[in-house]
Amino acid sequence: MNQTARLDRKFVWHPFTQMRDWLKREPVVIASGQGAVLRDVKGREYLDANSSIWTNLHGHNHPKINAAINRQLKKIAHSSALGFANEPASVLAEQLVKAAKPDLVERASSRAGLSGASPHLTKVFLSDDGSTAMEVALKLAYEFTRRARGKESRPKFLSLDGAYHGDTIGAVSAGHIGLFHKAYAGLLFKTDKVMSPYCYRCPFNRAKPERGDAREYRTCSWECVSLVEKKFTAQKRKGNAYAAFVFEPLLQGSAGMIPQPDGWLGQVAGIARSHGALLIADEVMTGFGRTGGTGLSTSRLAGTLAPPKSKMLFACQHENVQPDFLCLAKGMTGGYLPMAATLTTQKVFDAFLGEYAECKTFFHGHSFTGNQLGAAASLASLEILQTEKSIRQRAQLQKNLHENLQSLWSLPNVGDVRQVGLVAGIELVKNWRTREPFAVRERAGIRVCDAMATRGVLTRPVGNVVVLIPPYCTTPAQTRKMISAVREAVAEVFRAG
Ligand code: PMP
Repeated sequence: MNQTARLDRKFVWHPFTQMRDWLKREPVVIASGQGAVLRDVKGREYLDANSSIWTNLHGHNHPKINAAINRQLKKIAHSSALGFANEPASVLAEQLVKAAKPDLVERASSRAGLSGASPHLTKVFLSDDGSTAMEVALKLAYEFTRRARGKESRPKFLSLDGAYHGDTIGAVSAGHIGLFHKAYAGLLFKTDKVMSPYCYRCPFNRAKPERGDAREYRTCSWECVSLVEKKFTAQKRKGNAYAAFVFEPLLQGSAGMIPQPDGWLGQVAGIARSHGALLIADEVMTGFGRTGGTGLSTSRLAGTLAPPKSKMLFACQHENVQPDFLCLAKGMTGGYLPMAATLTTQKVFDAFLGEYAECKTFFHGHSFTGNQLGAAASLASLEILQTEKSIRQRAQLQKNLHENLQSLWSLPNVGDVRQVGLVAGIELVKNWRTREPFAVRERAGIRVCDAMATRGVLTRPVGNVVVLIPPYCTTPAQTRKMISAVREAVAEVFRAG
């Protein structure tokens, strides 16, 4: 066994990993990466089919991001944002505000000086990762509401069934995945949950299983939306209307790559707004072009090669939803460095202004807030995202994924194939006609991903869902290889019983 593998097994505790299983075998030790390819210490090559846990955007070892980091490194790696400003962080904040709502920003700047009118998302709080971006949003929303409603009030949050927003205590409190969150219930503050759409397994969907995306053949009356309305109304009657609605727009990642049907997000955001709730959009996974260009559902994607609106980088924008908090991380630096952002409104910002002794300050921050290397990488990544080449690449990848994924419907153990932009979830079942799931102990997702690894494709399942979320530079041949690996692995694993 190689020296790194030995050290790893002796000293390292891996995230979300049953270490007893880990210690049973020799780990893959990654030595280098280029584009969509990872290379291990033994010289074997793999496709990075989950973009290194959903972070990488443009491929590994990208010359532009490498150069930006190197340029910055010659000046300074890090100085504190507690007390000092720095150039890359300031420019990054401006660029994120622009990307979040380009039209509004443009309109507002043309009016600037006249009315002082401000666009929606005008302020950026930088932090380290998805969890911290969420903590910032939750704390700001909580305190903003307390200041508006009175210090005695106890603002409450509503989030979605199956929600995952990170692993810090606030983020876990807003989450609703029993497997991850139940054990820590005693540490958490209480949040309410409401049904989220999961058309494939929705109890209100009266349609029999078909070999197609369940969002499209579903037969229902939007009960999932009515339930959101009911929840908000019931809470208002209790005299403590929800302070904020927390959601992953278009697609719930850790719940199993569960896509929302077209129109759901716009409707529920409207309901939340009409009840006076703030909107907290967790775009930690969906941000920076992941949800693709046009349309959401797979049929609407078929044959679509029209370039997406170049500035539409966030899932919320697909349904014209403007949140009060936009939480970003993962792909922000192109997947190079840990860095995150929470964008918010002038109104929220203003609620924390006051004389020093009034103690209205937002008492929150991290040592690496505003880190220059991360900001330099993020700026380079944003620039790449806005090039024609990247826009074309993303449209092409979306189309290639769609076309290749169709071949999976012939497998009886594939129950659902769902794609949103550049993300696909393939749900494994015992029998597609009954949607019968595999039990946890059968480790269906893990076994299929292991069989994919032997074919040179690395990804990680979410339960029984195989996830494909490739870097944007993935070529048509590499896309074919990823999906062939899924097809062959599923056939092999379930033939073996
Ligand atoms: N929100 C979402 C939607 C996520 O997918 C994740 C991570 N998978 C997080 C928050 C937490 O991000 P991090 O792991 O960077 O803390």
